[in-house]
Amino acid sequence: MNRVSNRLAAIQPSATLAITAKAKQLRAEGAPVIGFGAGEPNFATPQHIVEAAVAAAQDPVNHKYSAAAGLPELREAIAAKTLRDGGITVSPSQVQVTNGGKMAVFEAFAALLDPGDEVLVPSPYWVTYPEAIRLAGGIPVIVPTDMSSGFKTTPQQLEAFVTERTKVFLFVSPSNPTGAVYTQAETAALGAWAGEKGLWALTDEIYEHLVYGGHSFTSLPRVSPALEDRWVIVNGVAKTYAMTGWRVGWLIGPQDVVTAATNFQSHATSNVDNVAQRAALAAVSGSLGDVVMMREAFDRRRQTMVAMLNDITGVACTEPSGAFYAFPSFEGTLGRPIGSTKPATTLELAAAILDEVNVALVPGEAFGAPGYMRLSYALGDDDLAEGVSRLATLLG
Ligand code: PMP
Repeated sequence: MNRVSNRLAAIQPSATLAITAKAKQLRAEGAPVIGFGAGEPNFATPQHIVEAAVAAAQDPVNHKYSAAAGLPELREAIAAKTLRDGGITVSPSQVQVTNGGKMAVFEAFAALLDPGDEVLVPSPYWVTYPEAIRLAGGIPVIVPTDMSSGFKTTPQQLEAFVTERTKVFLFVSPSNPTGAVYTQAETAALGAWAGEKGLWALTDEIYEHLVYGGHSFTSLPRVSPALEDRWVIVNGVAKTYAMTGWRVGWLIGPQDVVTAATNFQSHATSNVDNVAQRAALAAVSGSLGDVVMMREAFDRRRQTMVAMLNDITGVACTEPSGAFYAFPSFEGTLGRPIGSTKPATTLELAAAILDEVNVALVPGEAFGAPGYMRLSYALGDDDLAEGVSRLATLLG
């Protein structure tokens, strides 16, 4: 008998782990490491949100268990926010508050998939999706996209990956790791296609407020009547309100799916931390003023980063339209000598860059896209410029 279950033994170690561990070790040794790896804003959580949490911690009502589905006030506020931002009318009973968007992803797949059910996952993908799908017994079917299509898929492309076991189409816009944002027409076309096929759509809207230039966010269910009620939204406060550490997310879907997710969560973790839920309530029911300020900073950094990256010979970066990641190709730099090595893959290149100039990038291998690197631009302007300059000097 195996000591570790087959189910958990099959979870892939993250390709980012080695780099992250090494970056931490170098930093602990005093090296001036600049990290482009973290998927989180460098800002503190806005003050009014922190104050709501402080007040909540003082109130004994929050010291006790609460409903597994979430605080009623928060579910109501999330329903209202979903109408405000996505244009979709949902009842508070369709909202399940989760331990971050990540837990919402796990619960959604757990609620939708039976063993052998297939999920269409456009790549490059956020690394958690395939693992969440497999843990729920499903099979991730990777639909590859690249820079030439702006990292976007189409109904025509998806058609070739559908089988009689396909149950869910995964849609992420703005995307981690590519920053791609689908237009309203593209979103509607994908929704119509999935709807006509009788599929479910799982749509991850966690970066909805981080779109730049002339681009705008479209909530898939709003423009996809053919899906009827076969959609689940995943979202959370982490990226919009600089609240990655608070761990509050949610899923929204039809009542049967939400009830199944609530039952699951009631046994797995029960309610999300009440203090964090009160903070999330202040966030989603408050103004979007702080987000506007953060978005302006990200937009400025995005433009600086893309221009600096494209100045490096062998690096090609399309302009990301949303989220806070650039996803350039480093294909043209592979095979060049770097220090004592000659990296042949982006995995090796990321290790060499960290060794030589103390800059941490996430290799595309982590997202099913070798040849690319992900750089977060949610770090300070000076660090960003210094980090990309070091890359330019090393590779230039
Ligand atoms: N979805 C996407 C696309 C993400 O990038 C992340 C965070 N990296 C999440 C969901 C989960 O966010 P959290 O669990 O911090 O709310």
